[in-house]
Amino acid sequence: MAKLWLTMHAANTLCRRPGDCRMMLRRVITYLPSAQKLLLAMLFRLSIAAFALSLAATAPHSSAHAAAAIAGIDIAADQVTVRFDRPVATASAFVLNGPNRIAIDVPGAQMGRIAAAGGLIASTRHGQYDSRTARIVFELTQPAVVSGAEFSSDHQALTLTLSAVTESLFARAVRKGRQLFGLPGERASATTTQPGGVTVPLDPPRPLPVPPVTGARGSRRPLVVIDAGHGGHDPGSLSADGSRREKDVALAIARAIRDELAASGRVRVALTRSDDRFLVLGERREIARRLKADLFISVHADSAPNPAARGASIYTLSEVASDRVAAQLAAKENRADVLNGVDLGGENNDVSSILIDLAQRETMNISSDFASLLQREMSPTVRFKDSAHKFAGLIVLKAPDVPSVLLETGYISNPDDLQLLFSRDYQHDIAVGVRKAVETHFARRLTGE
Ligand SMILES: [Zn+2]
Repeated sequence: MAKLWLTMHAANTLCRRPGDCRMMLRRVITYLPSAQKLLLAMLFRLSIAAFALSLAATAPHSSAHAAAAIAGIDIAADQVTVRFDRPVATASAFVLNGPNRIAIDVPGAQMGRIAAAGGLIASTRHGQYDSRTARIVFELTQPAVVSGAEFSSDHQALTLTLSAVTESLFARAVRKGRQLFGLPGERASATTTQPGGVTVPLDPPRPLPVPPVTGARGSRRPLVVIDAGHGGHDPGSLSADGSRREKDVALAIARAIRDELAASGRVRVALTRSDDRFLVLGERREIARRLKADLFISVHADSAPNPAARGASIYTLSEVASDRVAAQLAAKENRADVLNGVDLGGENNDVSSILIDLAQRETMNISSDFASLLQREMSPTVRFKDSAHKFAGLIVLKAPDVPSVLLETGYISNPDDLQLLFSRDYQHDIAVGVRKAVETHFARRLTGE
C-alpha cells in the first residue's frame, strides 16, 4: 500500500500534463498486482479530476487574453441579451434567409452551448467562426432584424433589440450586410477587422438568388433546375494532381445540360448557379422550390482514394443509406455547408432524425423512377458503375415536393474519367442522355403511364 501512495505522489508531482501522467502510470501499473491496479485506477481518476479542476481554477489568472465564454442568453419580449463571463469589445450581426436567421459574431469569445428560444427566436445554434470568434445563430419564428444593440457598461452583456419586419424589408436587410456593434461610430460593413488589423472577408450575407429561367416565358412546360455542385470557396473533389476541380466540371456539364434542354424546347430550365459562386446546400434546393421546379438534378463528379474507381452513379434521397459508400458520399457532399467548423446550412446531417412526410415519400418514388430512366438513357454513351443507383441522405435532395436526383458523372480521381469529364464531347453525351430521360419522364407523367 505504501508503494501505491508513493506511486500516486510521484504521479502528482512529476507529471505536468494529464498525458504525461497517463503514460507514466501505465508504465508503473504493469508492475503492480491486479487488486492494486484496480485501486490505483480509481485513485488515478480522482487525481485527474482534481488536476483538471486545478487547471480550470488557474486558467483565468494564467492568461489575460483567454477567450470570453458565453455565460447566458436571456430572451425577454423583443430583446435578447447575451452574457459573457468577461468583457468583449465588439460584436457584429447579419441576417440570412432560407430559413430566416440572425447571426451574431463575437470576436474574442468561445463557442457557447446555451440553447434559448422564445418570442421571435425559434432556436439557437452555436459555432466557432474561427479560432477567436464565436458565432451564435438565432433561427427566427418570423422575419426580424436587429433594430438596436447595446453593450452593458462592463461590456459583459450585449442586448439586441429585434423587430419583426415584412419579407421585403427582411430581404433588404439581408442585402445590407453586417452591422457592427461596440465601436465608436457603429457602421454596417461586409468585412470585419480582426484584432491585429487583418481584414477577414466573411461570406457576405445576401438574398437568395432566383436565377433566370430559359424557355418560353409563362408557358406551362415543366421546369427543370440543374444544380452545378460546389463552387466559390468549395472546390469539391480534386484530381490526383490537384489541378482539376469538381466545381468547374460540374458547372460545365450543368451548362451543357441546360443548353441541350433549352434547344429541345420541351421544358424550361434554370441553373442554381451559372458562375463560380458558393451556395449553401439548402439554398440550392430552395431555388428549385421557389421556382416551383418539376425536377431537380444536382451535377457532381466523384473522387476516391483508389484511382481505379470510375463510372457514373445516381443518388436519390433515402432515410437509410443503401451502403457504406453511399453513406460516405452523403457525408462528403453534405460537408459543403460547414465552413471553419460553423454549420452554414443549419441542417442535421443525421437523415434518420428528419421526418420524411408522405409528400416526400411520393417525391422519393418519382425521384427513384427518374434515376432509373436517367441511367437507361445515359448508358449508351456514359459508363456507369455496377449498382449505379444508390440511396443516401443528401441534404441537397431534401426538397419535399421536387423530385430530385444527384448525378455523380464520374471520378475525377481516375485519369480516364478525368479526361472524359473535361471533354466537350463527353459533356455533350451526358447532356443528351439527360435530355432524353427528361423528355421521357415528363411524357410518362403526362400520359399517367
Ligand atoms: Zn460533389
